[in-house]
Amino acid sequence: MNPSRSSGRTRTPQEVAAALAPALGTGRLRLGEPLAPYTTFRIGGPADVLYDATTDEELASAVLAARHAGIPVFVLGLGANILVGDLGVRGLVVRNVARGIRDLGAGRIRAESGVVVADLIHHAVDAGWTGLEHYVGIPSTVGGAVWQNLHFLAPAPARERTMFIEEVVESVELLTPDDVRITVGRDEMAFGYDTSRLHTSGEVALAVTFALAKGDPVDMHRVMQENLAWRGSRHPWLEHHPSAGSIFKKIEGVGAGRLIDQCGLKGHRIGGAQISHIHANIIVNLGEASAADVRALIAHAQGAVAERFDQFLQPEIGFIGEFQPTNPDTEA
Ligand SMILES: Cc1cc2nc3c(=O)[nH]c(=O)nc-3n(C[C@H](O)[C@H](O)[C@H](O)COP(=O)(O)OP(=O)(O)OC[C@H]3O[C@@H](n4cnc5c(N)ncnc54)[C@H](O)[C@@H]3O)c2cc1C
Repeated sequence: MNPSRSSGRTRTPQEVAAALAPALGTGRLRLGEPLAPYTTFRIGGPADVLYDATTDEELASAVLAARHAGIPVFVLGLGANILVGDLGVRGLVVRNVARGIRDLGAGRIRAESGVVVADLIHHAVDAGWTGLEHYVGIPSTVGGAVWQNLHFLAPAPARERTMFIEEVVESVELLTPDDVRITVGRDEMAFGYDTSRLHTSGEVALAVTFALAKGDPVDMHRVMQENLAWRGSRHPWLEHHPSAGSIFKKIEGVGAGRLIDQCGLKGHRIGGAQISHIHANIIVNLGEASAADVRALIAHAQGAVAERFDQFLQPEIGFIGEFQPTNPDTEA
């Protein structure tokens, strides 16, 4: 992300706030707010300005206000797939807490993009609509879910294929880079493994309409329990070991985690960051990890796997904001 610049120099948080105030007011603009608490990694420096958008209209207005003032803007969901730099994020961070859910009838549900997927699952299951319960236990907003095409090995108990959230997406309401609101169908979203058109289009997802089928609540609750148990036994628990989920992209037929494990790196630590003892493709924050620690550990794992297996581990998570240079010599 480019620093927020005015007349060739970086704008101060006060200047960023002053430029946004005519559109967003001053009462809800938070200056220099640390972002670590708003990420599942619990890592990251301050946003110049943080604003909570509580409706899809507010989300669109905030993005438009920043664009029109020439200020870089980042839309933050649950912060479950990102590493925020220790030096923080310049410009405006819009925390998406637009959490409206509306039943459209016949299993069609419109969710604003800040809806937490766990809440949406409960809403759907309570009403007897199936299709979303497979994603239980994955931290995500609806916006983050369509950004990355949320997926999981399912359905329980066979787990013979990867299921993707796109399978239940009917349409997505977007704010385009030209500031126009459009609605596109699932087939236009360019969904793939860990990707969608949002990675390259510069668009912001405002709301998603899901199309679900009538299901048996007893069966849905079985799937949820089995998935939670499966995850709980294989992944570190976020409450105790903050993380961003899988760090590296899948390597077809091999498994990034397996390669890291075969390099003997489970439990390897740099500063407060550690390769999980129970899942080698997950880095956990032992409490005081910095983004620099995580980046150094990523580089260490990449180096070890490249040397031993001649394979390149490509990070899956997004690197957001400004980072200090990594120092591979800071191992604890
Ligand atoms: C413990 C753990 C387990 C996980 N397990 C899985 C798993 O099984 N399967 C899986 O697929 N993922 C998994 N993940 C990754 C993560 O849950 C998903 O990528 C999730 O979709 C991230 O959503 P978010 O709301 O936190 O997005 P964020 O991390 O906040 O943002 C990620 C990106 O999406 C963009 N974005 C967010 N909202 C919008 C929007 N409204 N419009 C445009 N862009 C937007 C952001 O700008 C950013 O670039 C896991 C993560 C953790 C921490």
